[in-house]
Amino acid sequence: MIDRRNFSKTFMATLGSVAISNPLFSKELLYDFKKSNPKKLGIALVGLGNYSKNQLAPALEKTEFCELKGIVTGTPSKAKTWQAKYNLSEKNIYNYENFDSIASNPDIDIVYIVLPNSMHKEYTIRAAKAGKHVICEKPMAMNSIEAEEMISEVAKAGKKLFIGYRLHYEPHNIEAMRIGQNQVFGKVKILNCSFGFRIGDPTQWRLKYSLAGGGALMDVGIYAIQAARYSTGEMPFAITAQEYKTDKVKFSEVDETIFWQMEFPSGAVASCITTYASYIERLYLSSERGFVDLSPAYSYGSIGGQVRRKPLDFTQVNQQQLHMDGISYSLQTGTKAKNIYGDEGLKDMNIIDAIYKAVATGEKVII
Ligand code: NAD
Repeated sequence: MIDRRNFSKTFMATLGSVAISNPLFSKELLYDFKKSNPKKLGIALVGLGNYSKNQLAPALEKTEFCELKGIVTGTPSKAKTWQAKYNLSEKNIYNYENFDSIASNPDIDIVYIVLPNSMHKEYTIRAAKAGKHVICEKPMAMNSIEAEEMISEVAKAGKKLFIGYRLHYEPHNIEAMRIGQNQVFGKVKILNCSFGFRIGDPTQWRLKYSLAGGGALMDVGIYAIQAARYSTGEMPFAITAQEYKTDKVKFSEVDETIFWQMEFPSGAVASCITTYASYIERLYLSSERGFVDLSPAYSYGSIGGQVRRKPLDFTQVNQQQLHMDGISYSLQTGTKAKNIYGDEGLKDMNIIDAIYKAVATGEKVII
């Protein structure tokens, strides 16, 4: 059964034993931390599209351990609007050409890459070479070869690379991790993880192979991969996959719908769907003696579901706020932020590569 005390313990551990603000926040801990670390870390957002504008920047108005200090944009009019709205200093506004001079700016500690997927590698490496820690959005790269290069270059620069996996800070998903990984209801046997939505504008970068590297799988299927992995605590060793396309014009360059299956060393099997054709959003984890069923499972509206037919009603949190605070706290204290580093992103890129290979060959791919 769900035990709130157990849940809180897991949640705290996930944050590196600190209580971050919001529902589970401990004023005493925050007070002690702030006394010894009075400065918030400065974050610069690179790319001021939908995710930066509607999620990350508003979340950075609530964070306790970091704040929005800079922006990198190719659009001068956006720079002006953001500068005024967030009271940013003129010297902290960059474009893509002068971005590397961020190296000499002590206001910026972390660079957050929120660009189309094809640009993640270049800007991650440039940011690390400029001496900054990096948060890179998912999918971390176009493929696993790029991901490996990013990890190696950031390590060479002596910096840390984090991936935008906000669900490691979301209570319902943390509960699924706890139940699955600790075998609370016995061994995990079956997983059903799916994420898809109906995509609009046919001219957007998400439908262009050169910018996105793939379609629904790269964009949202990656959440289903993550969910199956964090619900078992395992990496799959075998993949089979099938692709379906109903609109061959709109999806001429990238995948519309992919079904795939993953086999895990413990014997668990995952059946997954990703699509740009219609809405689907589910994490179903079935163990020997019970199940977890989250739907909606991955978006940043409300997340909900049930455990063994009993509703799961944890507090809804601001995932972006907790994620950036968790990273910043770990950087300031030298503690480990859980499961959100580059190596975690690379594992997902390995799986994505294997899924595309399984689609192309029709064969089972061993990872
Ligand atoms: P978006 O299209 O809204 O924004 C992209 C930004 O990149 C824009 O500011 C655009 O001007 C800029 N850009 C620079 N060069 C470009 C080019 N050649 N083509 C197109 N745009 C260019 O996209 P978004 O939804 O903000 O997504 C950005 C990244 O964030 C993606 O990698 C995406 O997967 C990720 N994302 C993550 C989440 C999450 O929940 N973690 C949610 C949304 C998006």
